[in-house]
Amino acid sequence: MDSGYHLMELPTKVLIGEGVISKLGEFTRESSAGRRVVVAAGSNVTSKVREAVDLALRKTPTWVEVVAADTENVERVMAEAAGAGCIVGVGGGKSVDVGKLAAFRLNLPFYSVPTSASHDGISSPFASLKGLDRPYSLMAKPPVGILADIDVIASAPRRLLASGCGDLVSKLTAVKDWQLAHRVSGEYYGSYSASLALMSADLVLRRSKSLGRFGKGSVRDLVEALISAGVAAGIAGSSRPCSGSEHLFSHYLDMVAPERGLHGEKCGIGTIMMAKLHGVDWRKVRASLKNVGAPVEASEIDVRDSQVVESLVKASSIRPDRYTILSTIRLTRKSARELAESTGVI
Ligand SMILES: [Zn+2]
Repeated sequence: MDSGYHLMELPTKVLIGEGVISKLGEFTRESSAGRRVVVAAGSNVTSKVREAVDLALRKTPTWVEVVAADTENVERVMAEAAGAGCIVGVGGGKSVDVGKLAAFRLNLPFYSVPTSASHDGISSPFASLKGLDRPYSLMAKPPVGILADIDVIASAPRRLLASGCGDLVSKLTAVKDWQLAHRVSGEYYGSYSASLALMSADLVLRRSKSLGRFGKGSVRDLVEALISAGVAAGIAGSSRPCSGSEHLFSHYLDMVAPERGLHGEKCGIGTIMMAKLHGVDWRKVRASLKNVGAPVEASEIDVRDSQVVESLVKASSIRPDRYTILSTIRLTRKSARELAESTGVI
């Protein structure tokens, strides 16, 4: 994007704190007054959260269960949401992605109510969907509002919170890739949005020990950092500050080793290796991920060595327009294996 201008789309409001789920009715009132609310919910949303949402919205909303982040689920939500006032996505990744895209296509306001903090999609303008012609995220619109109840998010499994730390740390190499692309091809580079994304990575790199205990204060910092990373993408007008070679690696793993590991876990592992290629302190990345309890070895997420090697070699092919360190350093099977071995990933 070097045409001299770009569009920034940002969330309008964020409500964050303990117990704020009870304020969901007020929070969505401008879109829901006198109109139906459709809730796209993940299948693992607890009955306690469901009751809290019903109570907060007073008029019982239409619940649509999201079982996968794919076109079929987006269409199901769209069918229910025709004529509604807004869509609320309640859950982890899938329901937020599906709700966001359904709302975008229907031109309805979308509210994000994350029940875990496992990736930055809770605030970003992007949605990841399976079964498309490309394995990376689609541009939609950011949520109008994000309601993050720290009580709910802090009670999510630790693995999800650690995965969120993996997605945060990945901003380190994403920004390095962006700077590289700017130098090599003159692609637009926004230093403000880059700094904002790096602040999110820094939270993990500098405070991994205390963060990894996942007390409520830490969970709140983690959620704010994830929201802020999504906002950085909104300011950049692209996913550049949040997604580089480590995300390409993760997306490729999605294809060769489906259903293995969470998005943030794979991105974290990718960041260790891409950091080494960029000549930055990959040991610190690895140690930070370990401190928060995120995986640093492929075997921890049941991925085979050969799948790591293949993903390293082919990652850049899934998105040739995105210049990253993998465009500069063309890894062979041999050099990819060496990279993965020398960083302890395999
Ligand atoms: Zn991500």
